[in-house]
Amino acid sequence: MKPIKNKINHILKTELNGILYIVPTPIGNFSDITQRALTILTNVDMIAAENIYHTHVLLKNFKISNKLISINQKNEKKQSKKIIEKLITGKKIALVSNAGTPVINDPGFILIKNCHKNKIKVTPLPGACAAIAALSASGIASNRFCYEGFLPNKKIARCNLLQSLKKETRTIIFYESPHRILNSITDIVNEIGSNRNIVLIKEISKYWESIYHGTSSELLTWLQKDKKNCKGEMVIIIEGFQKLSGKKMLTQQICHTLNLIRKEISLKKTIELTAKIYNIKKNILYNYALNHFKE
Ligand code: SAM
Repeated sequence: MKPIKNKINHILKTELNGILYIVPTPIGNFSDITQRALTILTNVDMIAAENIYHTHVLLKNFKISNKLISINQKNEKKQSKKIIEKLITGKKIALVSNAGTPVINDPGFILIKNCHKNKIKVTPLPGACAAIAALSASGIASNRFCYEGFLPNKKIARCNLLQSLKKETRTIIFYESPHRILNSITDIVNEIGSNRNIVLIKEISKYWESIYHGTSSELLTWLQKDKKNCKGEMVIIIEGFQKLSGKKMLTQQICHTLNLIRKEISLKKTIELTAKIYNIKKNILYNYALNHFKE
């Protein structure tokens, strides 16, 4: 009998509880809000917002008036308790951040975890997210990817993380900001490689939206050329590590590089340098050299 009683209690509790809606908001263009998001923001009992002023501007634009409660990085633990108390009494609450999908590098994780603990229903709404929008337009493989949020502020931690991602075969996504982009790309060139394909997508859905494609060292040169190139909200997409195998092992480009460098420096140095540039095993290059270079 006990399991059935427990199950009934669980159902009753779930039914009586309110709902937390996770509501994405636009990342640059108000038209990107969904009809469902507007309906929920209008009809919930209150909105938990990362920044009350910011959300007030959004609501005003859509002529929505509703109660707002703050939840941000600093007060999330305390505010989560308050919000859970309201949800337990059956209230329906929407969670929003300043832009994009809440919880994706935005507050809300503690609240959502506590909702699950308290058997409160959590409903996600699909909508704007800079990482996914950027990936979709990057032209870099999107079948397997990892999202890494912001790179660490401190150089050592940043380089260690990048080093650990050097052989990551999935596409890698980072968020970045104007004042750190030069340092981050410099470290990407040094730790991941100068020849890795990379895309920098800025100001998605805004007037100055732009996409830069190139290798990591080309991107660095472009950023260094003009301070304006470092401005705006941005997402970095890095192509995953390409395992070279079979026919792909020595591409035309690699052979061309080998031949070019060999004219200037010793065979040993040529092989070392080419192996570093393309992240390729030295013995593969030696085999090529044996067949192609007359020593
Ligand atoms: N929760 C948000 C989301 O779903 O994308 C992300 C919030 S995070 C605090 C802010 C970062 O997202 C920015 O520093 C930038 O890297 C990225 N971002 C936000 N809006 C963007 C836009 N319009 N274009 C490019 N990147 C954007």
